[in-house]
Amino acid sequence: MNALLVYPQFPDTFWSFRHALKFIRKKASSPPLGLVTIAALLPPAWEKRIIDLNTNHLDDEDIAWADMVFVSAMVVQRDSAYDVIHRCKLAGKTVVAGGPLFLGEWDKFGEVDHFVLNEGELTLPLFLQDLEKGSLQRVYASEEFADMTQSPVPLWELVDTRYYDSLSIQYSRGCPFNCDFCNVTAMLGHRPRTKTAAQIIAELDKMYALGWRRNIFFVDDNFIGNRKELKEEILPALIRWRKGKKGCYFITEASINLADDPELMKMMVDAGFTSVFVGIETPAEESLAECHKGQNLRRNLVESVQRLQRFGLQVMGGFIVGFDSDRPTIFQQQLEFIQKSGIITAMVGMLQAPYGTRLYERMEREGRLLQDMTGNNTDGSTNILPKMGFETLRKGYQQLMDELYSPHNFYQRVRNFLEMYNPPRLNVAIHFEEIYAFFSSIWRLGITGKERREYWRLFFWTLFRYPRKFALAITFAIYGYHFRQVNGSS
Ligand code: SF4
Repeated sequence: MNALLVYPQFPDTFWSFRHALKFIRKKASSPPLGLVTIAALLPPAWEKRIIDLNTNHLDDEDIAWADMVFVSAMVVQRDSAYDVIHRCKLAGKTVVAGGPLFLGEWDKFGEVDHFVLNEGELTLPLFLQDLEKGSLQRVYASEEFADMTQSPVPLWELVDTRYYDSLSIQYSRGCPFNCDFCNVTAMLGHRPRTKTAAQIIAELDKMYALGWRRNIFFVDDNFIGNRKELKEEILPALIRWRKGKKGCYFITEASINLADDPELMKMMVDAGFTSVFVGIETPAEESLAECHKGQNLRRNLVESVQRLQRFGLQVMGGFIVGFDSDRPTIFQQQLEFIQKSGIITAMVGMLQAPYGTRLYERMEREGRLLQDMTGNNTDGSTNILPKMGFETLRKGYQQLMDELYSPHNFYQRVRNFLEMYNPPRLNVAIHFEEIYAFFSSIWRLGITGKERREYWRLFFWTLFRYPRKFALAITFAIYGYHFRQVNGSS
């Protein structure tokens, strides 16, 4: 059996980092972890080929080669997924689909032959058994949660890693918290299910053996869901693994209560974590209470963020506007908060209600659901009718984005961050791409860019005051270019 696994194209989004990736001659942030894991769950005797449309074309010859096409996609890849499926059906192929897009919308994809939904470790074996028996169903779903200790080492050898900036690894699924707009708990439950330290090390060893030395993203929804296991098993194993190795620094996502645990922060930094994405959402307490984000309530959020940065963890933040409790001042409040906290990568979106969440149910009950979600958090769209009115929200949002990413505010934020950030000593692997990015930044930002004054000011300010942070300053200048391009303000 020839299995073609296809990952549809992402539009140009905040998270695509497409404009920044050009500086380091990469095509995409990271390869499709779901598909390389599915490939490892397919029978070893099958021939497998992965095409990521973010790095390669899907040729007619690839489709002709396949006996079966597996498509995995997130909501934001919807348009490209439709195209891929249609092309494969025109060529007479059997199409099997899975991933978050199809979980909520499988009934809209009439051309797909079979859906393998929920966690592949549970539903793919059912599909394969029925395939063997010749009695395939259209939909394979499960209400149970997979045992992560049974998840295989992904088949990274199917991917040309040269195109990517980072590889991904997943230690846990599920989150103990209960934010009402989040579909993680709806899809993956509240109890964090984890892989063993031996599994994690086996995955890292494989990446290292393939020559990987760049970033590795722990794509857990909340990496610190099981702190006891992290401290006793996983982080000590990562600290041992890192000894004598170059590169391979870790990024992850965690809840803000990480800032309350100095031991955990220190262990993460020692293990090689450099950045953490935190869902801050909003500085407005009423809005945090409204969405049940209790872990962010009754704390000084700026202080929590700065503590993480002082410990050596760069904070990327998720922010939301458009809660029912938001007042007209929310846009200014968000701007001031983000500037003060020094969060450079601030992903601000309008409140959306993903399928399966408690927010979705409430919006449905209140008759406030609009069109399908785009899945792009920062395109100024929402699938709900906001209380403050769509036009007020859209205008306030656009103004906030313009202000946040204006060269003046952005470079000021970078300086705020660099002043408080305490970088850990890293055994960095310098690649040709970084040297290329440095000279490209001089040309594109310092000579031809509109922000050239701000660029040179940051360049010399960092060089003379914080030379150890100079490379970071250039990286952030490049990020700023990407954010302005995506925002249409450059
Ligand atoms: S903390 Fe993050 S992952 Fe957990 S429920 Fe809230 S938004 Fe979802």
